[in-house]
Amino acid sequence: MTTTHTTASPEVRPTVYSATAPHPDAGPCPSWCWVARTGETHEVEVRLGGEVEHASDPLRVRASLHGGVRASLHGGRLSDGETEFASVEPHLETIGTAAPAIVVALRHYTYPGPEHHYGDVLRLAVTDAEELAQVLAYLVQQAKGS
Ligand SMILES: [Zn+2]
Repeated sequence: MTTTHTTASPEVRPTVYSATAPHPDAGPCPSWCWVARTGETHEVEVRLGGEVEHASDPLRVRASLHGGVRASLHGGRLSDGETEFASVEPHLETIGTAAPAIVVALRHYTYPGPEHHYGDVLRLAVTDAEELAQVLAYLVQQAKGS
């Protein structure tokens, strides 16, 4: 008696996704994700290995001691006569279901070019950000002499 073994090849995830196909990461967006707010969809990004990068819109805080830009140098985003200050731009970000991070970027301008720069970006765990907020509040109190 002869036994024939027919083994099907293992089923694996596809390596090509159509632009119109559902995202391979079907998990829901956190409530703070800009995609959840707008109803748009996440794009499949090669660098994320099939997971979604959820992000909130950045909040902007003026960074007065860094370079800003006038509309005449910047091009399309500003209207004539407008000036944009440099800004610290924190936002929430997470990949898939990982714990969210608080990402802090400094948007500033260097002359003579009109392009803004972000430079190094801080990626903070929530506990790190809580401690930073406490230290900043302490330093603000010290600076105000209270
Ligand atoms: Zn999302």
